[in-house]
Amino acid sequence: MRTVSGSTDHVVVVGAGLGGLSAALRLAGAGRRVTVLERSAQPGGRAGLLELDGYRFDTGPTVLTMPSLIADALGCVDEDIDDWLELRPLDPAYRAFFPDGSTLDVIADVDRMADQVRTLCGERDAAGYRRFAAYAERMFRLEHKDFIDRNLDSPLSLLSPSLARLVALGGFRRLAPVVASYVADPRLRRVLSFQSLYAGVTPDRALAIYASIPYLDSIAGVSFPVGGMHAVPRALAGAAVKHGVEVRYDAEVTAVEMRGSRAVAVRTRDGERIAADAVVVNADLPVAWELLGVAPRKLRWSPSCVLLLAGVDARWSKVAHHNLHFGRAWRSTMREIGRGELSSDPSLLVSVPTATDPELAPDGRTILSVVALVPNLDTSIDWRVVGPRFRDEIVARLESFGYVGLGDAIEVERLATPAQWSEQGLAAGSPFSAAHLFRQTGPFRPGNLVGDNVVLAGCGTRPGIGVPMVLMSGRLAAERIVGPTT
Ligand SMILES: Cc1cc2nc3c(=O)[nH]c(=O)nc-3n(C[C@H](O)[C@H](O)[C@H](O)COP(=O)(O)OP(=O)(O)OC[C@H]3O[C@@H](n4cnc5c(N)ncnc54)[C@H](O)[C@@H]3O)c2cc1C
Repeated sequence: MRTVSGSTDHVVVVGAGLGGLSAALRLAGAGRRVTVLERSAQPGGRAGLLELDGYRFDTGPTVLTMPSLIADALGCVDEDIDDWLELRPLDPAYRAFFPDGSTLDVIADVDRMADQVRTLCGERDAAGYRRFAAYAERMFRLEHKDFIDRNLDSPLSLLSPSLARLVALGGFRRLAPVVASYVADPRLRRVLSFQSLYAGVTPDRALAIYASIPYLDSIAGVSFPVGGMHAVPRALAGAAVKHGVEVRYDAEVTAVEMRGSRAVAVRTRDGERIAADAVVVNADLPVAWELLGVAPRKLRWSPSCVLLLAGVDARWSKVAHHNLHFGRAWRSTMREIGRGELSSDPSLLVSVPTATDPELAPDGRTILSVVALVPNLDTSIDWRVVGPRFRDEIVARLESFGYVGLGDAIEVERLATPAQWSEQGLAAGSPFSAAHLFRQTGPFRPGNLVGDNVVLAGCGTRPGIGVPMVLMSGRLAAERIVGPTT
């Protein structure tokens, strides 16, 4: 594995997102002096917190998988996750609602889940589900250490017995047909494959290696931190500070000062110059490229999303913590997303964090966090015009899905569209960075080592998008500086 050259005594980390914080903890644990500079007033980046009239909204991720990675990051400074976070496993992980009125609880216990599947889809699919669960787990275990959580210096690094096993498992076939080879019911097929959308690719285009995502959420399980998802970055930042990391907020970095291919300092908006032996950049790729003065690489960006956060004076008994409302026209929706069009029948992920932690809202109130996939800004949608209309459509659609009276019960709300994601510096107005097409995955994704001593961390670099991957990216970034740590 290649590492940075020269001294690495003082490392400056640009950005206190989950990627930056994960790197900072590992660097501190390896004895480096670490300064984290974060442009906003709080840690977490996309995993932010918005407080409105007594409601505490998470502004980004809601589905937490692989909490062992949080434990691992905290473990770098000998901290125990149980002292920092109270994690509650979600049972069910999701509740799926289908247009025919049926529902399916997705339970991270293969036996209980197979029972659910048997009741909804019959014996044959229950057996198929069991086989798929074993397949997805095998896929994840094969990929994890050799391909995902590992610094790859070139495509040649992929050549290993595990690669042959991945090929033999059909990892380079498409996810949708692979899922279809295990189960027949179209509802179950959706539940076992929609997760590739998290990686920016529709299930019919995603590689079957992404069966690792349904493994992680639907089979290994989803948990929720008391206090909300933002409790995760708060914990990481708190532990970092406790162990000597200097975390400075409202400190926007405007340039990384390069001497040839070596970073020697960073400059902040306040005109401060902070000398550095090595720099970790956690900002999204367009910002990183600009700070470093490197030419942008042409990439295909993931679809974006509209996020509606609503604080509501109402409750609905049928909803779980995470609710997947599938539209009628799932196949054409996938085609529309693939073509970069606004869906005529959007499926919605509705998270209700107050179902697990009522303290997040004033007494008796409910938080809804609604995500709808939409095209990124590479299309010509004017979100200033379309945004408010789309918000009204989401509310009407939710009412038709059973959230009766929602429109009148909303006390506070916030809408984020691709326009808002773009204002935060996120590429093409997408919070999901470069899509995980084959040509943008593994060693083909933008590498994390830039020049002699700059390392990228976060979802734009390897391994990729989502909380687990980003936590891993922080580890991989730190290892470029201090060498292998496990
Ligand atoms: C609505 C939404 C829903 C999501 N749902 C899920 C989910 O359910 N599960 C899941 O696993 N993932 C989900 N994700 C994705 C996940 O949130 C991201 O992949 C992850 O949080 C990205 O972390 P990061 O460290 O790469 O970047 P960021 O969180 O963007 O962190 C980058 C940090 O750098 C800072 N920064 C930028 N420029 C500068 C500068 N010049 N100077 C100083 N600081 C700077 C930013 O302020 C930010 O704090 C979701 C994302 C969104 C937005």
